[in-house]
Amino acid sequence: MENADKSPFSFSMREEQIRQVFAQMEQRGERLVAIYHSHPAAPAYPSPYDIEHACYPETAYLVLSLAGQQPVLGCFRIHGKQVTPLRCILY
Ligand SMILES: [Zn+2]
Repeated sequence: MENADKSPFSFSMREEQIRQVFAQMEQRGERLVAIYHSHPAAPAYPSPYDIEHACYPETAYLVLSLAGQQPVLGCFRIHGKQVTPLRCILY
């Protein structure tokens, strides 16, 4: 997905591109398991904006922070404005 905001501080997705991506996934027999984005200067935790706009409660939200010397990856479920940390297994 492209960041329709073209900003390092926020992101949004165009509805048309969301539809295209879901159609492509369906054709390939894929399903949405995670949504990833990065925080260039903020912690690896969903921001109030992320929480407010989260609309896939069955999906893991991966937030990569690049604020420190080492990248930090957080993994969460966001449902009804509640954030639940998930255990991430990286390969
Ligand atoms: Zn965020």
